[in-house]
Amino acid sequence: MKAPVRVAVTGAAGQIGYSLLFRIASGEMLGKDQPVVLHLLDLPQAQTALKGVMMELEDCAFPLLAGMVATDDPNVAFKDVKVALLVGARPRSKGMERKDLLEANGAIFTVQGKALNDHAARDVKVLVVGNPANTNAWIAMKSAPDLDPKNFTAMLRLDHNRALSQIAAKTGKPVAAIEKLAVWGNHSPTMYADYRFATIDGQSVKTLINDDVWNRDVFLPTVGKRGAAIIEARGLSSAASAANAAIDHIRDWVLGSNGKWVTMGVPSDGSYGIPEGVMYGVPVVCENGEYKRVEGLEIDAFSRERMDLTLAELEEERAAIAHLFG
Ligand code: NDP
Repeated sequence: MKAPVRVAVTGAAGQIGYSLLFRIASGEMLGKDQPVVLHLLDLPQAQTALKGVMMELEDCAFPLLAGMVATDDPNVAFKDVKVALLVGARPRSKGMERKDLLEANGAIFTVQGKALNDHAARDVKVLVVGNPANTNAWIAMKSAPDLDPKNFTAMLRLDHNRALSQIAAKTGKPVAAIEKLAVWGNHSPTMYADYRFATIDGQSVKTLINDDVWNRDVFLPTVGKRGAAIIEARGLSSAASAANAAIDHIRDWVLGSNGKWVTMGVPSDGSYGIPEGVMYGVPVVCENGEYKRVEGLEIDAFSRERMDLTLAELEEERAAIAHLFG
């Protein structure tokens, strides 16, 4: 049996946590032969609910669950972890300004970035799910100067999966047959899902669909506003699909994407006209525990416009919290 891997989940008593933890403990994220120790972080007032979740985890008798740690202290939660899923974030309350939301999350992710810096394994893989995910990931990365910036990522995989399922429905082809989809930018309605390079059984998806009006007026708004549509229908925000995307993201990063393009929010290297350091969704391929950007894609005028729009939103978010870093 392999040695257990320590996995931290923040906001562990929340909705997404409830969909996430059982799948991690069953081996769906790191493999069916990889024991895990779960480090569960939540606020002091959520500790009782967290105990309940832990009782349920115990009652599943997962053979791969080698232990659990519950805490409200990030310094304990991130001790020696190799994977950290930062799910907990301050939700926007009624009447709250966007600036105040960024500020409140700035405080949370500064503390968590520093705790990762001081206590996590040096090769820790960090995925930020809590919104605004890209900016929160950027704050955590900046607060962890001793860790490689490449270890910090934001979740764009839900946008990627949503786009895949819309394309499958439109073309009548199975989701698994779709290759080379890209999603650019921020995890927000401004994200740009781009199927210009996508193929199904070697055929171009753009040619198969052959409808630029559908792309602009149906596909992009449907994917971009999917979260709001789910809240409208369910009365609660998406949780199982967000947890599923987090599992997909880490599984592919750790175990490889088998040559498939997947989307990750990663610090920009300056390519595609995105300034260096911006936490921006790009297509990547994962192998040997590392992601590699897909390079050299042609950016046409429509794509440039969409990519710049989502970049502008990220730069605005970053400007609102820039004072945290002097
Ligand atoms: P959820 O588990 O539903 O959501 C957690 C975060 O994930 C939110 O920021 C949410 O953003 C975000 N998110 C990202 N993508 C998605 C998506 N596609 N669908 C839904 N959410 C998405 O929230 P709960 O309120 O149920 O639970 C949050 C938990 O976090 C609570 O237990 C709370 O106590 C804890 N918490 C912990 C903190 C800490 O550890 N320091 C700090 C703050 C909270 P959005 O709000 O935009 O939906």
